[in-house]
Amino acid sequence: MPSDADRATVPGEPAAGLCDVEARIFLSLPDIVWCLDENRSFRLCNEAFEAFTGKTQQELVGQRPPFDGIELPQFIRGFMAHATECRADRGEHALRNPKTGLRIYFETTEIALKRPDGTPDGYVCIAHDMTRRKSLELELTASRNELFQHAYYDPMTGLPNLRHLAGKLAEASAVSATGGAKGALFKIDLDRFSAINETVGRASGDQVLVEISKRLREEVERSGDFLARLDGASFALIVHRHAGRDDIARDCERLLTRISKPFFVEQKLLTVTASIGASCFPEHGDNPEQLLSQADSALLFAKRGGQNTWRIFDDSLIDEARERFELEADLRKSIESDNFTAHFQAKINLETGEIAGVEALMRWNHPEMGSIPPGVFIPLAEQTGLIIPLGERILTDACHFARHWNDGTRKPVRVSVNLSPRQVMLDDFIPLLKGCISRAGCKSEWLELEITESMMMSDPQRIDELMRGLSALGIAVSIDDFGTGYSAISSLTRYPIATLKIDRSFVHTRVDDGKPSAIARAIVAMARELGIKCVAEGIELATEADMLRKIGCDEGQGFLWHKPMPQEEFFRWIARYEKSAAAQ
Ligand code: C2E
Ligand code: MG
Ligand code: MG
Repeated sequence: MPSDADRATVPGEPAAGLCDVEARIFLSLPDIVWCLDENRSFRLCNEAFEAFTGKTQQELVGQRPPFDGIELPQFIRGFMAHATECRADRGEHALRNPKTGLRIYFETTEIALKRPDGTPDGYVCIAHDMTRRKSLELELTASRNELFQHAYYDPMTGLPNLRHLAGKLAEASAVSATGGAKGALFKIDLDRFSAINETVGRASGDQVLVEISKRLREEVERSGDFLARLDGASFALIVHRHAGRDDIARDCERLLTRISKPFFVEQKLLTVTASIGASCFPEHGDNPEQLLSQADSALLFAKRGGQNTWRIFDDSLIDEARERFELEADLRKSIESDNFTAHFQAKINLETGEIAGVEALMRWNHPEMGSIPPGVFIPLAEQTGLIIPLGERILTDACHFARHWNDGTRKPVRVSVNLSPRQVMLDDFIPLLKGCISRAGCKSEWLELEITESMMMSDPQRIDELMRGLSALGIAVSIDDFGTGYSAISSLTRYPIATLKIDRSFVHTRVDDGKPSAIARAIVAMARELGIKCVAEGIELATEADMLRKIGCDEGQGFLWHKPMPQEEFFRWIARYEKSAAAQ
């Protein structure tokens, strides 16, 4: 066994210029160290070298790397060749240990030695094992990537997220502000997504989002635009190519068509629609916040415009928004000071001329603007949630009216009240309704609720619950504006629907030739077939009433008889109407 000093000594070369202490330090260095002479032949090495290569100094001395005549594991040979042939001062070398399968990383350094006279005296090669540092580095990079992924991508769809979008938008808008390419930002929001979620369940709702993101991604792959998923059911798209109105219109139409193609989710055929709001850069702003907020305003108006549509931001939206804001504030004040009244309109039996029912219609008595029709304030009340107190108010009025009317000697008739989607979605709607009925001393069979076709289709589970609750109370349900929405024909047989109300657009259509519209005819025929009563709305002319009676429509309602009016006025009208009917 050679002593430490011997090992640092090559035969014929006394102590390789090292004293005993230096030799011991050299030998026990943790790094792998070996020396070559000026001809690059092996001169000496330390213990770490021997341990790593499995070869002793004696075996290698005088040989030139990569030691072709000596049996060495391939990966060691590769390492030696790299380490000793790499003329750079410093290098990095990775190799895989075939026994362990693990990767080892070395940092290799070669130092050229010179004699005092400046002539070459050989080389010292040092290989520092940096596997641990490297693996920490790799770990760090991986977790940094993960963090990046987390911070900039949406985990469900794999699309970039809002933060990522904001960065891209900042770049794009800054470039265009200095004369670069113009562009547009589209904010795309799925319509009624919470209803979809509630109908098909959250997991299927997620599938819907994934499917829609797939479709949008395919659109974007073709165009090279930047797509991101924002929160919930919102996506955003940065389009660089153009900012012209026609281009935007074409793109929006294409996207909406693509989104609305039906698809299956867990064996259910679903059709999803979206609304799009667009802002353009540089016209509408030079920073992401402004562009996003203006695309949002445009989106809001697109939604209000009936959904499945698009809108580009312009300054008039700001005025519209301000007006809306003021109207909303007025609406709140008016609810507090109770500036609402119910007006009533009779439903007339077309055969006998008798009063067959009454509809309660809400009116807002604006302190400055006078009477505002429900077409203006009901959608606003619906959007702001104010429909809840307003709805309760009209229900209470209708219950008092029904009691007043039906408590007398007359044949009882039903008083109908229009419901809005938000009321139907209320968890405690049935208890609320019961409260109104009992406080007014009304009977539930004196009440009828009008809901629209689209409400019937919106959330099957909620509608099931509502129908069961109303049926248990003995409250009749009618479908308003029938024929204008998605057809709810299947629900007509599923639920105990008392009445179909033919929308007034079908009452007027062909009055010129004296014939009822084909739709009015079909609705009446179908209602008869199903044993459901039929009421035609908006009858203004005696000829209209006559033709509807002839095709078998049961009741009519409209200005032909009277316009909706407050309770006291309505009772006076009834008295006159009945008096003139009796006189005939
Ligand atoms: P609707 O329930 O279909 O009511 C019929 C509408 O037609 C009423 O408009 C009525 O005034 C009008 N009308 C009746 N006869 C004629 C006619 O011969 N010709 C014409 N041109 N119109 C006629 P109104 O009162 O402006 O109500 C509009 C809509 O607002 C209602 O349509 C209903 O959907 C909604 N609405 C009214 N009151 C309430 C309410 O208290 N709650 C809720 N959620 N919606 C309400
Ligand atoms: Mg109605
Ligand atoms: Mg109607």
